[in-house]
Amino acid sequence: MEWRGGWLLVVPPRNTSRTCPRCGHVSADNRRTQARFECVECGLVENADLVGAINVLRAGHARIACEVSGIKPPAAGTHRSGSFRFKPGLSAVGISEL
Ligand SMILES: [Zn+2]
Repeated sequence: MEWRGGWLLVVPPRNTSRTCPRCGHVSADNRRTQARFECVECGLVENADLVGAINVLRAGHARIACEVSGIKPPAAGTHRSGSFRFKPGLSAVGISEL
């Protein structure tokens, strides 16, 4: 990870598979099958694993931002997509907590 310039973080997995990365809507109905994510609010259709990976990465970015600013990190799905801006060029990766 250091060679690639990233950080390895542990993030809580809560709602990472149920949160829409486009509009932020959280619902179990967004994921009615294992492979397919379909947002009941905005209609986004995407591979469910990709959606989970996007949300985990965002949770990692949020954790870094909160540690820098001293603010308690939000749980996944408690903020809308696009509300978080990460410093361009700085790479980070989040993984689910086991
Ligand atoms: Zn949506």
